[in-house]
Amino acid sequence: MSVTVRVPAKVNAQLGVGGLRADGFHDLANVFFAVALADEVTATPGEGVTLSCEGPDAHVVPLDDSNLAARAARLLAAHHGLADPGVHLHITKAIPVAGGMAGGSADGAAALVACDALWGLDTPLPVLLELAAELGSDVPFALLGGVALGRGRGEILEPLPVAGTFHWVFAVADGGLSTPAVFRECDRLRSEAGTGFTDTDVPTPDADPALLAALADGDPVALADALANDLQAAALSLRPALADTLRAGTDAGALAALVSGSGPTCAFLTKDAETAAHVAAALRASGTCRTAHATHGPVPGAVVRTG
Ligand code: ATP
Repeated sequence: MSVTVRVPAKVNAQLGVGGLRADGFHDLANVFFAVALADEVTATPGEGVTLSCEGPDAHVVPLDDSNLAARAARLLAAHHGLADPGVHLHITKAIPVAGGMAGGSADGAAALVACDALWGLDTPLPVLLELAAELGSDVPFALLGGVALGRGRGEILEPLPVAGTFHWVFAVADGGLSTPAVFRECDRLRSEAGTGFTDTDVPTPDADPALLAALADGDPVALADALANDLQAAALSLRPALADTLRAGTDAGALAALVSGSGPTCAFLTKDAETAAHVAAALRASGTCRTAHATHGPVPGAVVRTG
């Protein structure tokens, strides 16, 4: 018997970053948007918790206990008092690694759902969401999917209404960016600009009403105007060449371009599927990225694949 779970990547339609808190985190206003670019995690019975991975980035995915899928399996087993959990998790990885699309978090969410089904545990969703939040601030959203506003560190989620389907392109860079390093660079740039960088200097961010209205109306032009990422300047400061990628996408007809989360993946919103395919081809030909994918969303969170 085996269980395969499909789990989406996310793009942040809005990533508002507050000041640095005393506990080292930042308050976020994070509009998560799940896209059809997805990993799959297959759980089969095994001895202990073991991992394998396939896909273009498989060689940079850690296959030890630091992998979020393995941590998720162990956490679920511990929660249910399973002394000797047995599972092999095979990750089919399409989400770029360290790309700002929460691929590791997605695999953690997928492993929770896959192990829950394999072990016949029937854990209620609110409990899975709590376990997910323990694993990392982006993991609960990967369970839910759709579009949601994340507050706090991103783990307090409120599903948002969305009409229709939006078409996106993602340009994958060579190599990743460390999320903590991008937050540190954001603090450094704020400090250099003289505006201060702690939570007493920077107002707590909130969701932009224009962005929420664009989502609810299914209006890609209005959404393109409202897309915002407070980490973009920091990602560009660490990886200046991303400016060329962003320009290549808008030159090819994207409505808007932004760095996805902490980068270095760049996200482009287009008016329809046809334009997305064209922009992806132009980005692949531009030499400013490793590859580019046209995709769409929102899509559901981690679900068991049937058939
Ligand atoms: P986020 O957008 O949540 O900040 P990210 O997309 O930038 O994350 P991930 O792909 O989640 O980054 O990976 C970040 C690091 O986490 C990797 O460099 C890797 O060492 C580690 N990691 C742990 N588990 C996984 C996993 N299942 N897949 C990929 N990376 C993982």
